[in-house]
Amino acid sequence: MSHIITVPAFSDNYIWLICDEKVENAVIVDPGDATPVLSILNEQDITPEGILITHFHHDHVGGIAGILQKYPDLPVYGPVNESIPHITHPLSGSEQLHFEDINIRFEVLNVPGHTAGHIAYYGDGKLFCGDTLFAAGCGRVFNGTLEELHNSLQKVKALPADTLIYCAHEYTLDNIGFAKWVEPDSGSLLAREEQAMALIDANKPTVPSLLSLELETNPFLRTDLPHVKEQVEKGTGKKLQNSAEVFAAMRTWKDRDYD
Ligand SMILES: [Zn+2]
Repeated sequence: MSHIITVPAFSDNYIWLICDEKVENAVIVDPGDATPVLSILNEQDITPEGILITHFHHDHVGGIAGILQKYPDLPVYGPVNESIPHITHPLSGSEQLHFEDINIRFEVLNVPGHTAGHIAYYGDGKLFCGDTLFAAGCGRVFNGTLEELHNSLQKVKALPADTLIYCAHEYTLDNIGFAKWVEPDSGSLLAREEQAMALIDANKPTVPSLLSLELETNPFLRTDLPHVKEQVEKGTGKKLQNSAEVFAAMRTWKDRDYD
């Protein structure tokens, strides 16, 4: 079993350190900022084994150079189809990675949509998905497409329901606000909101979340349900035919009217 250290960065980012059980070695996921990562490695005497990058946005890659200054030989894994300095191991999806010192294997998933080359890392029952899926929400579409993001979320839905979702931002409460537009009568959603509020009040992260909870409360994973389709049709004034159309209309609705 891996041990995960949560490293908050900027105003709402999470950088993840995936460590072995004894917390001696780690791989670093999406270091947007080097400073908090280097101080934890130093304080806890952890040896980094590599850096995993999900996509090119600055708040995910901005700390690579600073970490390499201290650890110049560190391998850096990232998407082949995006322009990211310092990548030593370009990945296109479906590769397997093995970090022996942490005793963890990852499957690389190709999950375009938020960006055109976005990838995710799945291993040890955990998904490190960058800005693809968020707790109770999903990423915006930058240079990918709505159709790609819908397809990528179908891939995530197909993972085991007990998968822990490690996304890269603390957006949960805000996302729940929009989810309530889509499913105002959902008891699970209201219960989730209470739980999330309690965690935020206690200054604790709401991430990771369980895929089973996302399947129950995240509207972007529920676009195949008739009552969700109806509500999105009401909100957008569009007649929608299938899950992909409901997804595209929902994402556009949120961008336009919610935030
Ligand atoms: Zn991003």
